[in-house]
Amino acid sequence: MKPIRVTVWNEYRHEKSDEAVRKVYPQGIHQTIASAFSDPLQVADPADFAVRTATLDEPEHGLTQKVLDETDVLIWWGHMAHQEVSNEVVDRIQIRILGGMGLIVLHSAHYSRIFQRMMGTSCRLRWREADEKCRIFNIRPDHPITQGIPDTFELPAEEMYGERFGIPDPEELIFLEWFQGGDVFRGGCCFRREKGKIFYFQPGHETYPQYYNPIIRQIIVNAARWAAPLSPVAPEMDSPNAPLFEVMPKH
Ligand code: ZN
Repeated sequence: MKPIRVTVWNEYRHEKSDEAVRKVYPQGIHQTIASAFSDPLQVADPADFAVRTATLDEPEHGLTQKVLDETDVLIWWGHMAHQEVSNEVVDRIQIRILGGMGLIVLHSAHYSRIFQRMMGTSCRLRWREADEKCRIFNIRPDHPITQGIPDTFELPAEEMYGERFGIPDPEELIFLEWFQGGDVFRGGCCFRREKGKIFYFQPGHETYPQYYNPIIRQIIVNAARWAAPLSPVAPEMDSPNAPLFEVMPKH
């Protein structure tokens, strides 16, 4: 299954309304994330990925059935307009994930409707905007997502996200984070929902240049490889009445 087809979805509102954010991401967060998939620093063979972007204000949020049918891994960044994402599109994404599409949920998308839907919990957390240093610990050096990632690294400043994070216990915990103000956070978490893999990754507040950081970019690319479906995505929507496999003894 080559290339892996990635769709980077971004709410794309902060960049249009806030000068400070526009300075960091003049083309939008989605374009910066998308560029990692053709960056020789992260991807040796550019034929590994085919990337497109989609944003909230496009018709059907840019996520028509056709786009989703052509998506192996969906990356999601949102913050201020989670409630504007329609039920119809959330339903459509959920069905695709259950059939095997990967989902990568970044930063404030912890509160996105699709992540809450897939978790079934509040996804609430503690937060603070105080320009805190963040130290990230790679606690699963054996995992596909951490290949090429150091045991620990720092972000000079990030919005603090702290425990308790209202998620189900992750099936794999990949990164732990420590913030200068003293909080800790499960900053990299893997889940599986039927055939679909989901990765939540904390860094990426809109006023900081995290998505230019080669380590962050490598983690996102690795996560896309990990989350890509192993076989063609096919949701099992029916609940069939089952024929007998064996002849039953007569009583
Ligand atoms: Zn933020």
